[in-house]
Amino acid sequence: MGSIESPKGAGSNGYATHNATVTYDADQKTFITIDGVPSPATDSPYMTPESDASRKRRASAFLPLEVGTRVMCRWRDGKYHPVKVIERRRMQCGGPNDYEYYVHYTEFNRRLDEWVKLEQLDLDSVEAVVDEKVEDKVTSLKMTRHQKRKIDETHVEGHEELDAASLREHEEFTKVKNIATIELGRYEIETWYFSPFPPEYNDSLKLYFCEFCLNFMKRKEQLQRHMRKCDLKHPPGDEIYRCGTLSMFEIDGKKNKVYGQNLCYLAKLFLDHKTLYYDVDLFLFYVLCECDDRGCHMVGYFSKEKHSEESYNLACILTLPPYQRKGYGKFLIAFSYELSKKEGKVGTPERPLSDLGMLSYRGYWTRVLLDILKKHKGNISIKELSDMTAIKADDILNTLQSLELIQYRKGQHVICADPKVLDRHLKAAGRGGLEVDVSKLIWTPYKEQN
Ligand SMILES: [Zn+2]
Repeated sequence: MGSIESPKGAGSNGYATHNATVTYDADQKTFITIDGVPSPATDSPYMTPESDASRKRRASAFLPLEVGTRVMCRWRDGKYHPVKVIERRRMQCGGPNDYEYYVHYTEFNRRLDEWVKLEQLDLDSVEAVVDEKVEDKVTSLKMTRHQKRKIDETHVEGHEELDAASLREHEEFTKVKNIATIELGRYEIETWYFSPFPPEYNDSLKLYFCEFCLNFMKRKEQLQRHMRKCDLKHPPGDEIYRCGTLSMFEIDGKKNKVYGQNLCYLAKLFLDHKTLYYDVDLFLFYVLCECDDRGCHMVGYFSKEKHSEESYNLACILTLPPYQRKGYGKFLIAFSYELSKKEGKVGTPERPLSDLGMLSYRGYWTRVLLDILKKHKGNISIKELSDMTAIKADDILNTLQSLELIQYRKGQHVICADPKVLDRHLKAAGRGGLEVDVSKLIWTPYKEQN
């Protein structure tokens, strides 16, 4: 450990931040600043001038920070943002009290959760009360009615399993990202969230996926050996759509259990709210691929319950990061509605949707509905719109209401569609992405397949 010294070049509040390694020595009850050139954090409006000694005394009382602590943390934009400590770990080459902290930026999506060093945290802003109740509330809100019902149905015999399920959910919500990167086909991809890989993968920061069967391995050599003998060049299941270089495969989770589970492990790395990993039997998976002479490369997928009482036509949706912003998400959504039309049913996505998922849906609903309204002459009802589009009436009503196109007159909802207003909304909703060419869809609905 370096020599004890007071922060150099500190500003009016004597606050040391940038590049300084600040640690706490438990025996001497003092701060130790090693190397670095501390500089004042003058851009932090929440700090009040305080004498160096008293500040140190106060801040040091919190170290090491407890899980659940709320504090301000310097992010990559150089500014301080509120975070909550999710986990902490001792630093490998540090002293017994040198910790780094896994934090959730409460203003940002959880994909930005990360490990930070103590020097990034502003100890003056530590909130002394650790409120675990808040966490519990968030966890219970996060479970959809549907998920709760499923747990209720599966475990009618008592509350123990329900509690266990809630506990699992809670653990997952507070889990630290375990796998940092994956290799999939020609891409190395940084992950966003925790995924519950089997325990033997816990010590791996990187996993290697076969891009066709989605088996995953800890070492590159294992993947190379696997690729020499894996005879798949596309997802298993039936190709139900091909248009140009795009193909869609339908995979029955019951017939291809391992593939379904592998897909779920992979998808969870990029989805915050996904909770179903093992009962893949009940789902169909629609995997979209870009095809070339080396094979069909997965770009994204959606899953769908084989039987849904709530008329869900989509459970999870994901476009893999290297393929995002190319219109594939919109394509997947449009595709799910084309399947619903073939089934002669209305559909809606299962909630909760991720932030990105919700954006895509809002855009899709707006484009589809306003395109119809623009062309339509005369009256049209929500029911008619629903029949034409397979979009559930609630979603139509919500979309049009959020665009302020609905008025309530004489006990009825009336759509008020000024062409200029429609054009403005359509422009704001963005481009429609890749079109689904329905003539290229060769598919029989699941219940008729059996
Ligand atoms: Zn393989």
